[in-house]
Amino acid sequence: MRFTYNEESCRYEPIVVSPKKFFGQAMKFFGSSLLIGVGFLIYYNTRFDFVDERILKEENTALKTEWLALNNQLNKTSTELAKIEDTDDHNFRTILEMEPLPQSMREAGTGGREKESTKINQPLISKSLKLSEKILNRLTVEQQSMEELTKKLESKSKEWAARPAMQPIDNRDLTRFNPIFGLRLHPIYNDWRNHNGLDLTAPYGTPVYASADGYVTLARFGGGYGNVIFLNHGYGFETRYAHLSRYNCTVGQFIKRGELIGYVGSTGTSTNAHLHYEVLYHNQFINPISFLYRDLPQEEYDKLLKTVNPEVNPVRLNLEIK
Ligand SMILES: [Zn+2]
Repeated sequence: MRFTYNEESCRYEPIVVSPKKFFGQAMKFFGSSLLIGVGFLIYYNTRFDFVDERILKEENTALKTEWLALNNQLNKTSTELAKIEDTDDHNFRTILEMEPLPQSMREAGTGGREKESTKINQPLISKSLKLSEKILNRLTVEQQSMEELTKKLESKSKEWAARPAMQPIDNRDLTRFNPIFGLRLHPIYNDWRNHNGLDLTAPYGTPVYASADGYVTLARFGGGYGNVIFLNHGYGFETRYAHLSRYNCTVGQFIKRGELIGYVGSTGTSTNAHLHYEVLYHNQFINPISFLYRDLPQEEYDKLLKTVNPEVNPVRLNLEIK
């Protein structure tokens, strides 16, 4: 309690404060305290972060750095995928005689499905998610493309294996290679006849190999052919091996390219040991030389072509077979 000196009564008397005055003073005190407090709060809030906010900002910066690393990784993945797509389009598809996939097909995506990225509000996350969705779509398209390529390769491999792309006699065993195809003076009948094959002079008993995969359709004595083997390779191809001394296969047997099927002889219309070799495509005789370029080095093949006189021997060297 506070006191005051009363000069009239010459006594110290207690100061009596009315409730209204007391309330007014209290309000003044609290009001100014509040004002000072709020002032300090605003000042500190603008000058210094709250602890929680500072932690959040640090976390945010760290997240941004991590997002950048993730996005860079996604971009790298996209670049690597583009290389695979390019190899598919311009290497595999070219070899297999297929058209490259149009870019619109590669970028078309799966369609229909609602994209996760559209549900995300955070722009950075949404951007990365969009990129990863694109990569996933392109991977799906590439996977389908690889399956298509595998199937095509399997069918092409069978087709290639059916082409008579090999010499039927080991090149080292050949003593003379007679590339006459077409009209020639027959050595026995002494008149001009079509020679529908290739004569490969080789010692008696030299092994004869199948020039492509196929089934044996005939293996018996056949008039002027002598002992002869017919192979059907499918895809329109047939090969014949004549004047043999012996067989090493039976009718109906499946033969792989390079498999031993018989031995050189001089049976039928033949004056010396040699193999008469024929190639037919859709029942038409074609010059076997057309295929030997696969088997011979370019230099030897060129030398071989020079020995052919196209006027006497109308060879069809540039025959296109699809
Ligand atoms: Zn012949």
